[in-house]
Amino acid sequence: MNCLFGEGGCRVSFSSEVKQYLCEIKERKNCCHKSLLYGLLLPSRITKHSIVLKTEHKNVAALAEELITNLYPFKAVILEVNNGYELHVESSQDVDFILAELPLESDYINDKLFGCEHCIMVFIRGIFLSCGNVTTPEKSYHLEMIIGKKHIDSIKKQLSEVSFSPKRIIRGQSLSLYYKDSSRIEDFLAYIGATKHSLEVMNTKITKEMRNNINRLTNCETANIDKAVTAAAIQLEAIRKLDEQSEIGKLPPELKETALKRIEYPEMSLEEFRHMFVPEISKSGIYHRLQKIVAIADEIK
Ligand SMILES: [Zn+2]
Repeated sequence: MNCLFGEGGCRVSFSSEVKQYLCEIKERKNCCHKSLLYGLLLPSRITKHSIVLKTEHKNVAALAEELITNLYPFKAVILEVNNGYELHVESSQDVDFILAELPLESDYINDKLFGCEHCIMVFIRGIFLSCGNVTTPEKSYHLEMIIGKKHIDSIKKQLSEVSFSPKRIIRGQSLSLYYKDSSRIEDFLAYIGATKHSLEVMNTKITKEMRNNINRLTNCETANIDKAVTAAAIQLEAIRKLDEQSEIGKLPPELKETALKRIEYPEMSLEEFRHMFVPEISKSGIYHRLQKIVAIADEIK
């Protein structure tokens, strides 16, 4: 479980942390406020009499509420519901007011609303806040935005225009635009303003890679040690057999010397063992001598 701290000892999810951070960024320009609200409200349920945005995150609902209060001469209401919060704009007059400016029902994105070069980024941040999710990098690399069929193509196009072309998958009644590549996720988070979390993804990736490399090396070393131990055990068993049959004395001198030294230094690697001879013998020389001893022992019944 991804639980480190927070209520009941649980870490607030990585996604919630990212959203909380993004909600605290203050935009200065009016055009950016509208673009952010446009992105935030795009996935909402719209009727003639209401606009309802459902979210698991109270700060996302609060941000939309604050933007509406600042931009329009009316207020929205936040209700606590099962699994989260709902932001309601309830009067048909207020709904008309918002829809006249933000074409939430249209299946295309009205980029004429984007008054400055910052607006597209803020709009995408709004979409991520409303319907995005990012997995904690310790677990896996996955960032997605679950979007209704109506807006999927236009949002995909918009993302592609800012070089964040996503992949697309069906999620029940909706569709999801997603990234699975850690570098894309880092770049996307940095782009929408979550630079701190972009760095966290990068650092976690580096830590994971280092840990994997260490594990790989350790496994490799362990495998080599296992091999050496197995080989040494076979050699000692052969020498014991020769000794029991009083065959050691009958071995050629260099094999006899090797067998006796192996009894003396049973746990040494070949590299260490070869230094026990005067003059020193090459590693392959020692290996072949021990192989010969094993072969001779094998011939004895
Ligand atoms: Zn702007």
